[in-house]
Amino acid sequence: MRRIAKRWPPSNVSPDDQPPRSLRQAEKEHQAALSTIPQGKEQTRNARASFDALDKKKLREALLLEQGGLCVYCQQPLTDQGRRDSVPHVEHWRSLRDNPDQALHWNNLYLSCPTPTTCDGAKGKRRLAWSETDPELPWPTEVPYHDWIGFTSGGEAYVRTDARLDTATRRTLTLALNDCLESGQTRLSLLNLNARALVEARKAAIDSERKRLERDFPKSTVPMEERRARAKALLKKSSPLPSFISVRIAWLTRQTGKNKGPA
Ligand SMILES: [Zn+2]
Repeated sequence: MRRIAKRWPPSNVSPDDQPPRSLRQAEKEHQAALSTIPQGKEQTRNARASFDALDKKKLREALLLEQGGLCVYCQQPLTDQGRRDSVPHVEHWRSLRDNPDQALHWNNLYLSCPTPTTCDGAKGKRRLAWSETDPELPWPTEVPYHDWIGFTSGGEAYVRTDARLDTATRRTLTLALNDCLESGQTRLSLLNLNARALVEARKAAIDSERKRLERDFPKSTVPMEERRARAKALLKKSSPLPSFISVRIAWLTRQTGKNKGPA
């Protein structure tokens, strides 16, 4: 996960056979309708219907651009082409059930990969929080997840000890990455971002950066400025960004394994 800069919400989210309507307008109409409905299941149904009335392909196109073509959680590359089961999900960061008023809110919408065992697939209907009383993890428009999450050179993700986090956010973020033990019981990870396939893919991303450095600087130490310049250049690629960009940057800037803390 990394910070995401949101642009303007899409100017037309209507299906092609309907009059154009911006997301802002659709959200306004949705919230007006919602205010006349009592809280509870009916609001959830209403929010679902408002959301399903949008042209998802148009949402996906805008989100794909915003996220540099990467999954908001695991950073694997997304594609809107090909088989139905490979199409990325338009994901509510805060669930539609708990936050029907935010069902059409642009800062609450992201694209997740369709992997059934990680990211949105692992999260399901759960809140991004350790306990029911904890607040959910903040939107990635608000906080620098890329500064909070570190990586080992083997591709494992961890919450950095130098991340300035309150206890609730720290334990939720840890649960987002890994299964956790609580009173002798295993709690399944919220996003499963240390699933074996992801760890291996991140390791492969590090290896590809290493090979490129070794090719360009055979038998010599690469100056730190050069490594930093390369990390910066990766971010400039905009769309699509290189897969697993955060681990590439961590490795290039010699941050892998830093501030890991006890396992
Ligand atoms: Zn993902």
